[in-house]
This record gives sequence, C-alpha cells and structure tokens, in this order.
Amino acid sequence: MKPGQLKDLKNFLKTKRNIVIVTHWTPDGDAMGSSLGLYNFLIQLKHRVTVITPNDYPSFLFWLPGNKKVLVFSEKTSLAKKAVAKADIIFCLDFNSLKRIDKLGDEVAVSKAKKMIIDHHLQPDGFADYMLHDVRASSTAQLVYELICALDYKKLINKAVANCLYTGIMTDTGSFRFPSTSAKTLRIAADLVEAGASNWEAYNNVYDDNSGERIKLLGYCLGEKLKVFPEYRTAMISLSAEELTRYNYQKGDTEGVINYGLSIRGIRFAAFFADRDNMIKVSFRSKGSFDVNKFARMHFEGGGHANAAGGMSKLTLDQTIDKFLALLPAYAKQLNTAK
Ligand code: 5GP
Ligand code: MN
Repeated sequence: MKPGQLKDLKNFLKTKRNIVIVTHWTPDGDAMGSSLGLYNFLIQLKHRVTVITPNDYPSFLFWLPGNKKVLVFSEKTSLAKKAVAKADIIFCLDFNSLKRIDKLGDEVAVSKAKKMIIDHHLQPDGFADYMLHDVRASSTAQLVYELICALDYKKLINKAVANCLYTGIMTDTGSFRFPSTSAKTLRIAADLVEAGASNWEAYNNVYDDNSGERIKLLGYCLGEKLKVFPEYRTAMISLSAEELTRYNYQKGDTEGVINYGLSIRGIRFAAFFADRDNMIKVSFRSKGSFDVNKFARMHFEGGGHANAAGGMSKLTLDQTIDKFLALLPAYAKQLNTAK
C-alpha cells in the first residue's frame, strides 16, 4: 500500500463510518478469519461494521468471534443490500475480482462507497480505491494483521481479533506447512498467540469437528475414487451428486480431500471434481513449478494461486473429467519436469 493511501485511510477511519466487509463465494478459513478479524478490530474504533458473505460456509468456522453478526447475502438479501447501499467504505477480502462474489458483486459495483481490496491472489482486477495486495503473503489474514500494525493500532489486537487472524493464517498455510509460510508468517502467528489466540483451540475447532459421515466420505474417496496417472504425475478424485448425498454432504466436508492426492510420492498435480450447487466445482493443487492458477484460468473459468486454485464447469461430471483427462497429454512435459 502506498504511504499516502495509508495516511488517507487512517484519517478516513477517524470519523465514525458505516463499513461493510465482503469476502468470496463459499468462504474458507482465511476468508472468514480475515473478515472477522478486521470486523473485531474496526468495532473497537466505534464504526458500524457489517460482514457479508455471498453464500454460506462450513460450520467449523461458526465459533469465530463475531460469526453471529455475519449476513449471508443469499439468505438475508434485502438487509445485506441496505448495508451495502449505506456503506462509506467496503473492504473486499481474500478475492480480487467481483465475479468471485456472485450477485453481491452487482451491489458492490454500483455502490458509491470507497473500496479497499486486501488480498493475496494472483492477477487482481483493479476495481478498488485502496489496495493492499501481496501474492507472497501466506493469507489475507496476515495482510489484515500487517494493515492494523501499519495503521498503528497493534494494541487493538485483542483475543477476538487474534483468534480470527490466527485461524485465517493457520488454514491458508495448511497449518504452517506450505511454502507460503515464511519466518514473518511464524512471527505474526507468535504475536497473535501472545495477543490471546489459542493455537490448539483453533486447530481443534477447525479440524477436529468432523461428523462420522465426513470421515466415511473421506475413506470412500481414498478407497474407491482416487485415480492416479503416474505418467502425468497427477492424481484425481471426483464425486457425483448421488455420492455426496449418500454421505449426507455438508458444506466443507470435502475440504482437504484433494491434498491426499498430492501426498502420494512423485505426484505434482491433484484435481478434485464435485457435482454440487448445479455445477461442477473444480479444485486444483500442485507442488513445485506447475502453475494451477494458469491452468484453472485457461480451462475452468477460475483462478487462485500458483499451487492452489479453483474453478467450475457447466458440463456434466463425466464430460468435465473427460475434458480434464484430454488436457493432460499437452501438459505431460511440464508435469514431468516440474521441480
Ligand atoms: P479451493 O479449491 O479450496 O476452492 O480454492 C483454492 C484457491 O483458489 C483459493 O485461494 C480460492 O480462493 C481460489 N478459487 C477457488 N475457486 C475459484 C474460482 O472459481 N475462481 C477464482 N478466481 N479463484 C478460485
Ligand atoms: Mn486466502
């Protein structure tokens, strides 16, 4: 963020404001952790703050402080529209194109409010007045921490703020194991623990909150659905709508399943396909130099990071898989030389 912008934002926040925080479609731990971390910070400055998500999110995030105040646009549409219309500033967290917030994007686009993007995804669209964007940051939650410190409000990082931001960092770094975890990330995590975040409770709440059905679905994915293509160093898992229903699928139940494909020795590229919400949700992960952001942008209307991206397909599940498999030979060389 340019120094002039930082000063400008600090002055802007000296007056009591109507503030809206929005985050991306099907929010994950970083989307909710960064949004509620910013929320718990801004309410201490006496602003009126509303967090709006485009749709619902996994129940393992409901424990985050401030969660009860979140408006889900698809459920509380008129209330959410009113909040956006009244906003003086809209913070856009953990996404970089209004397409990522679906119909909520139409409201944000026409709003006269100032807009600020805080994000770490590749190739941002330039729709905001203020931009705190760093693709090297482990998570948006890390950037929110850095913003609070840059505004000189570090003392306002209380237990609630700290737990939210810690959770965002923990989830986006795969519990501090991805290459995006820098020494700075670990120092910030330590700061957050000092400020009251409970690292073990955050972990328990997020990762040890499974239903029995979720674990059985994982077993089914690994036992019956995992396909490995050693010639392309690729692993794939797919789930039909019927299979999801069979295991009483709840939002978030398939999060992390894709990483098992990537954990196989020699595998550099993992794909996951699920038939849900009237489309095929697509997820990609890679290790090393194979760029799944590019792959998702080029073939599946998506994007994300170089090693973690997503997208969608309007074809049937079988057609989507056929399309994916037909693409692999063209990437054989890249995949086989991927560092
Ligand atoms: P996931 O596979 O967990 O849904 O997402 C992996 C990463 O890609 C996340 O950073 C997420 O924000 C991003 N992502 C997921 N789906 C999409 C999509 O449809 N479009 C774009 N641009 N990014 C996505
Ligand atoms: Mn993120």
